[in-house]
Amino acid sequence: MAVLSATLGRVKPSPTIAMTTRAQELRAEGRDVISLSAGEPDFDTPENIKEAAIAAIRAGRTKYTAVDGIPELKKAIAAKFARENGLDYSPAEITVGTGGKQVLYNALMATLDPGDEVVIPAPYWVSYPDMVLLAGGTPVVVEAGLDQAFKMTPEQLDAAITPRTKWLIFNSPSNPTGAGYSAAELKGLTDVLMRHPHVWVLTDDMYEHLAFDGFTFATPVQVEPRLKDRTLTVNGVSKAYAMTGWRIGYAGGPEELIRGMRKVQSQSTSNPSSISQWAAVEALTGPQDFLEPNRRLFQSRRDLVVSMLNQAPGVSCPVPEGAFYVFPDISGCLGKTSAGGRRIDSDTDFAEALLDEENVAVVMGTAFGLSPNFRISYATSEAELEEACGRIQRFCAGLR
Ligand code: PLP
Repeated sequence: MAVLSATLGRVKPSPTIAMTTRAQELRAEGRDVISLSAGEPDFDTPENIKEAAIAAIRAGRTKYTAVDGIPELKKAIAAKFARENGLDYSPAEITVGTGGKQVLYNALMATLDPGDEVVIPAPYWVSYPDMVLLAGGTPVVVEAGLDQAFKMTPEQLDAAITPRTKWLIFNSPSNPTGAGYSAAELKGLTDVLMRHPHVWVLTDDMYEHLAFDGFTFATPVQVEPRLKDRTLTVNGVSKAYAMTGWRIGYAGGPEELIRGMRKVQSQSTSNPSSISQWAAVEALTGPQDFLEPNRRLFQSRRDLVVSMLNQAPGVSCPVPEGAFYVFPDISGCLGKTSAGGRRIDSDTDFAEALLDEENVAVVMGTAFGLSPNFRISYATSEAELEEACGRIQRFCAGLR
């Protein structure tokens, strides 16, 4: 009998982690690789947050805690939802996990039965479909390409919903495209959801603080309060506070769902790190003045990257509203041969040849459910971005 389950056989490992690992290996071999594949801020966690963690260690806050979060953190999260999103969640409607990733996984594990469908607009964050498969559900992917600014239309959502639809997974600003839905665009989707009362909404608001050019972030329950009793609003401290390694994510939602998610967590990992929880209390309740300069920094990096990529022959890069990714289209590069003699028939060929010939690591669009594209994370220094985009320009100019 095979040691690995049939379910696992349907799941692929995270392609972004695979590409980052490959870039690290090549670097260890001495190659001058620039990796634009990892999705994390390149600056350090703010001092006040680190100090809070050190203080927690010194105070002996190093034991098991309540399974889905200490009361102090739940209170801080409730205050955050009220302050920044106008949402009213009581501590009993809040859960804390080991990253937003675990929170999403808990939600799917707690709710999906075999055959249940989950609508996922593509391009999507790589983990959504595989998490759905691991939980026994069926992903229903809705393609939203460049011609529609990578945003699903209300008509597409309506057409994707069946009697078996359990969830819509919604992510704005998006990883991998940076596309953000305005409140009006979101209202188009929530109006459809109001007509389908059996569908729940899993909104992943991880990039809420990275919104550019006056784009205003909106979350579904803000736009349609009547969805609150079937929405899970997921967020975390990883991206906003440069805390990816601390592993704290959280969500607000109906109590019954939160209790179900707690049960999953209680039989798998128990509480997220006690020290990280105290650090997250400081992140959410301490000074917030660090967010705005970072937002501005990311916006100027975005402008640099978009402008340089659009100067690369065959590449078309729209201007995203948020997050720290771009997802350029490379239709104009297909069917050509690189300077190093490799034929480019897909975005996988493109990403592999770019890494081999120009030492730049990006992630192929196919990993995110839409081709031919690639994703760049611009959470790296301007000097590196300039060098990397210059190499991409040279690579594309060399295609024949
Ligand atoms: N959701 C999106 C869209 C992401 O891009 C990520 C991280 O890359 C996560 C969730 C998970 O973040 P974390 O588990 O670090 O909170």
